[in-house]
Amino acid sequence: MTGSRPTPEPHEGGRIDGTPAAAQPPNGSTAGAERPDGSTAGAQRPTGSSVGVQGSNGSSAGTQRPTGSSGGAHGSNGSSAGAQRSNGAASAGSRARGPAGSGAGGPAVVIVGAGFGGIAAAIELRRHGFTDVTILDKAHGIGGTWLYNTYPGAACDVPSHLYSYSYAQRRDWPQLCPRQAEILEYLREVARAQGVDRDVVTGAEVSSCAWDDNQRHWTVTTAAGGAYRADAVVLATGQLHQPSRPRIEGSESFAGHSFHSAEWDHEYDLRGKRVGVIGTGASAVQIVPEIAREARSLTVFQRTGNWFLPRKNRPYPAPLKALIEHVPGVQAFRRRFMFEYCEALTLAIRHPATIGRLLGLRSALFMRSQLSDGELRRRLWPDYTFGCKRILFSSEFLPALQLPHVRVVTDAISRVTAEGIVTADGALHALDCMIYATGFKTNDFMFPMQVTGAGGRSLADVWAGGAHAHLGLTVPGFPSLFIMYGPNTNTSGGSILVYHEAQAAYLRQALELVRRSQAGGIEVREEVEAAGDRALQARFAGTAWTRCDSWYRDRSGRIVANWPGYMREYIGATSRLEPSEYMLLAGRPSDQVPDEPATDARARTRAHGLTPQA
Ligand SMILES: Cc1cc2nc3c(=O)[nH]c(=O)nc-3n(C[C@H](O)[C@H](O)[C@H](O)COP(=O)(O)OP(=O)(O)OC[C@H]3O[C@@H](n4cnc5c(N)ncnc54)[C@H](O)[C@@H]3O)c2cc1C
Repeated sequence: MTGSRPTPEPHEGGRIDGTPAAAQPPNGSTAGAERPDGSTAGAQRPTGSSVGVQGSNGSSAGTQRPTGSSGGAHGSNGSSAGAQRSNGAASAGSRARGPAGSGAGGPAVVIVGAGFGGIAAAIELRRHGFTDVTILDKAHGIGGTWLYNTYPGAACDVPSHLYSYSYAQRRDWPQLCPRQAEILEYLREVARAQGVDRDVVTGAEVSSCAWDDNQRHWTVTTAAGGAYRADAVVLATGQLHQPSRPRIEGSESFAGHSFHSAEWDHEYDLRGKRVGVIGTGASAVQIVPEIAREARSLTVFQRTGNWFLPRKNRPYPAPLKALIEHVPGVQAFRRRFMFEYCEALTLAIRHPATIGRLLGLRSALFMRSQLSDGELRRRLWPDYTFGCKRILFSSEFLPALQLPHVRVVTDAISRVTAEGIVTADGALHALDCMIYATGFKTNDFMFPMQVTGAGGRSLADVWAGGAHAHLGLTVPGFPSLFIMYGPNTNTSGGSILVYHEAQAAYLRQALELVRRSQAGGIEVREEVEAAGDRALQARFAGTAWTRCDSWYRDRSGRIVANWPGYMREYIGATSRLEPSEYMLLAGRPSDQVPDEPATDARARTRAHGLTPQA
């Protein structure tokens, strides 16, 4: 079936910010990630959408989908996923792919991951005329983090005006930090409005990406046996998508029910049950106040205390909501303010002895005001420098721990039995349900996927001593491979989406260079990456991040998750790709054959399957 995209209609009413993206980089500064220019002919959105998406270059309006691509789409939660293709519906053509740089719409790009990162990359590429883009995701729909994490209370920590794309601002968020369902719906709407939802193939778990030195292309293989060929690959698999369950002796013997917070069992009724929550990190802090209302008893097992700052996150009062929605500039001002507020958090983390101490004092006063019981306060108090681990924002968690049917256990868990959890003091905590709020395998990045670059070199081997990449994006020996939210691009005080946008613009520049120069690929110079990594690691010296163990570090203690500085620095560092930092690979022999202008469908056929999906 060939279907044309809905023509976006002009934005109506005041809810949507129609300012061209170029006018509003994330921090409002000129160092912002490059936004498309000229292409922003006012806000556009499909009828009925509540998200204002600023000017796609219009290229998406009339594009066509590959034959047979729509049939197997399955919706996720019944929403926009209707336009996505299922794994089995992928194009199965085995035509030779044309030159990387010459085809209209090329180079052909495969993006792995349809979370905020993958969608940001696809939007950026489409806006700049790259129409041969395919997004593969193992999940059943768009969303990434926000599709998986549906636990009670799941919400963003970062205010919505900042946790949203700069070019798709909403003015009608219901509260400061939106809930999971609202974020998911927002992402779907943006993907739909920008036309990239049609590029998504769901149920496609990528097992390997292999670079062919001779042909200078990537072969992306799925667990189901399908294969895609691409000139470039973008790995947008995130840092927080693989649930981590600690190995606890006897856990398989538990007679009750158990699940991970990212795999919430909504069929299981917690009412009247004795529930245990293992962990007190960011997810647990959102879960506990919600389920405390339902459970007969709630036991919270804490390994480490947290530093808290207040946040009530109630729905906006009507006058404030109306102000943001209808008064021009208010929403943009709030975004700027939140950006600077988040930068101030980073300032505190970078300077633990001064600013950090002040903010730590603010946190301590808040926690004291919330914890009236001195004994509980002692047990919950963090034993590490403020800002070393993620600072948590909640005005509900600590009060919930003081409810009569809620207990906090700080003795280490020694084993699980059929009845419940036994702690180091020998006490048995009898449970009907055990919830693992134990976070994610953060340092695994895209693994267990096998990524093989030039000369058959494996990324797992290259990263054996700790993950590293130039600006978190490119790795020597892995031509035309880009990582979104890669090593050292997490933020403790900011929005990941700011990084995503900067990364998308950067990799788009790299592919424009490839296209312009008719190259066979682009690869970061080894010495550039090594020098950048040394400088980056050196910037952690003296910061709070170095003062305790955390999920930001790998087994060797190296900090591999976080960017050591401010959001504005990352935007600045990535705003312009420096060609001298890269090598361009010679075009492949077949590049001599001039490519006829390709329709979107034809270009896509080149990028798609060498073999049908099983
Ligand atoms: C509960 C929770 C709350 C959070 N709150 C905040 C917050 O307040 N602010 C903030 O900035 N960040 C927050 N984060 C971090 C969050 O992960 C990022 O903000 C953002 O959503 C990451 O987007 P992403 O696209 O990079 O990765 P993800 O959203 O993780 O998406 C990765 C996608 O890749 C897919 N994938 C992975 N491996 C494969 C494979 N082999 N084959 C095919 N597909 C694959 C996954 O299915 C997934 O859809 C939070 C994370 C969690 C878990």
